[in-house]
Amino acid sequence: MAEKSNYYDVLGVSRNASQDEIKSAYRKLAKQYHPDFHPGDKQAAEKFKEINEANETLSDENKRKQYDFELDHPGMGSMGGMGGSGMGDMGGFEDIISSMFGGFGGFGGARSSAPQRQRGADISQTISLSFLDAIKGCNKEISYFRNEPCKACSGTGAKNGTAFTKCGKCGGSGRVKYQQDTIFGRTIQVGTCPECNGTGKKITERCPECKGVGYTRKQTTFTVNIPGGVDNDSSLRKRGYGQASPNGGECGDLYVYFRIQPHKLLKREDKDLFVTVPISFKTACLGGKIFVPGIDDMVELSIPAGTYSGTRFCLKGKGVKTVNGTGNLFVTVEIEVPDKLSREQSKKIIEFEDSVELKACSRMNKFASDVSALYGKEIKKQ
Ligand SMILES: [Zn+2]
Ligand SMILES: [Zn+2]
Repeated sequence: MAEKSNYYDVLGVSRNASQDEIKSAYRKLAKQYHPDFHPGDKQAAEKFKEINEANETLSDENKRKQYDFELDHPGMGSMGGMGGSGMGDMGGFEDIISSMFGGFGGFGGARSSAPQRQRGADISQTISLSFLDAIKGCNKEISYFRNEPCKACSGTGAKNGTAFTKCGKCGGSGRVKYQQDTIFGRTIQVGTCPECNGTGKKITERCPECKGVGYTRKQTTFTVNIPGGVDNDSSLRKRGYGQASPNGGECGDLYVYFRIQPHKLLKREDKDLFVTVPISFKTACLGGKIFVPGIDDMVELSIPAGTYSGTRFCLKGKGVKTVNGTGNLFVTVEIEVPDKLSREQSKKIIEFEDSVELKACSRMNKFASDVSALYGKEIKKQ
């Protein structure tokens, strides 16, 4: 997890920037990183999210005050969006303790005195996609219920996000030490403060919006930009779109999975596409043009004279465009045999067959002589 830069740095404004300066910096950046101009670019999308997050806090005077307070008092922990702890900051013994108590997720700063914040749980959602939408990419609306950090109190559970004092039991650290007698003697253990659930804060007045829990159950609806080339085993992660933390930490993530509908004609294997096309006996003998289904339109394919049933043609680069390159479209032809022939048509077929020189059917000829050799018997021409 990379250390997140602070909201002022994200918008490139100073700590004492006016609301107008914040507004204009936000507009400029939001335009620059808008996902519509960077389809499929995850970095730009992440940046866009960061910009919005920063603006949401800094453009609201109350939230900004709270945020400034937290910037100046890192020991008091941070709000939902500001998580991020470099594992490297932590000292040896504390590492083990915090992993034992499951606190890695969201405690800002991650110094030994920082309160322990649990990361919210991840959520997974499956989106059904048509065969071609998965190949070409698309925007899909997704809607699901989740515990969303309470906006009224910035996830703290305290009225206006400010009605709290330091927890008396842990002195604001969110952790308590206790003695334990083991076979190795008496040891000192460190655990999450039971009084404040690791937040280090004691709420003096509960947020009326969320009744003090710091989150509300809400339907979240937004549009997911699905890049072209996704498959049944692909997934997309939306950071921070999972469940709210139970104690004011970072939100979990949303994992979007795909269920891709089959196509009427095309089959897909990774980035390659496959199709079987029936052709007439005449086209197989004399050659001709056929049309095969492609991704955006039908594709013309020339069949050379003397094409056998089962021959596979490769249309290079007409497959699926993925991050690992573009695949091919493989076309297998199958000669269609008419099954209802009139007496006259049958006669013509016999005439035709009798007229064909044996050497023109060299494969059939060779096969017949191989079988003969195997059993030591002659095969008469049928
Ligand atoms: Zn609240
Ligand atoms: Zn406490």
